Amino acid sequence: MTLLTFRFAPSPNGELHLGHAYSALLNQQMAARAGGRLLLRIEDIDVIRCTPEFEAGIFRDLEWLGLHWERPVRRQSEHFAQYQAVLDRLIAEDLVYPAFMSRGEIRAFIAETGNRGRGWPRDPDGVPLYPPLDKALPASERKRRIAENMPFAWRLDVEAAMARAPGALSWTEFTDETMSATRAIEAQPQDWGDVIVARRDVPTSYHLAVVVDDALQGVSHVVRGRDLYSATGVQRLLQELLGLPVPRYFHHRLILGPDGRKLSKSFKDTGVAALRQAGMSPQDVARLVGL
Ligand code: GLU
Repeated sequence: MTLLTFRFAPSPNGELHLGHAYSALLNQQMAARAGGRLLLRIEDIDVIRCTPEFEAGIFRDLEWLGLHWERPVRRQSEHFAQYQAVLDRLIAEDLVYPAFMSRGEIRAFIAETGNRGRGWPRDPDGVPLYPPLDKALPASERKRRIAENMPFAWRLDVEAAMARAPGALSWTEFTDETMSATRAIEAQPQDWGDVIVARRDVPTSYHLAVVVDDALQGVSHVVRGRDLYSATGVQRLLQELLGLPVPRYFHHRLILGPDGRKLSKSFKDTGVAALRQAGMSPQDVARLVGL
């Protein structure tokens, strides 16, 4: 029998806060109850914002919290060649296109549409969807712009991708952390429009690296915050296009700050290191997040 495999996948672009502590400890608890494995993955594709210092802080905080994970740890920045190979497949299959518009150009384009851009579709995070102009560029024009070194990102042609993915896209979501019941969730990748799957200089994006790694590492259970719930639709679509196995998911509650808002990495008071320095024990932290 293959063991159930869980993972905690932080990005070393800031310090861990209570929300991360909850996610890590919940993964550990669920893996232990299932007699499964727990992996730690460092999601550091953003080579500018991610630093060795933040990474060292993550290891220190997780060890202090009492997390036990398998070695070696997968560090995404060490596997760009693997992501490039997957990206090359998407390029060869015409499922991605180079997108050249800057944020300012997108804003300007949308403002010029009827109604001063009101009614322009936005993604679940409130960001306006990418305009359809670049998708229609002739190959010669794309080549010319790339040869001229124009900045661009590889975006998924979600319409073409949906047409290619057979049948209804759904995923299995556990209803709670006991994993005793599940429900099927219909994926809505089109809500995100043509998402970025890679950058010019980094051959992947968060979505692409996550689905590639979850498959490569044999992750069977993805347990992460509700803030990533609808992103799962995009990831399901990529799994389908790439023929990757589909894990089961549980999107857990978020730990909110005193102001009722989602915690952020700049929110110093709820940093795990700050709580430790203030004299809290790992048990105090676990209690604080309701575990
Ligand atoms: N690296 C992501 C984050 O820190 C989590 C990715 C995931 O769990 O799928 O928000």
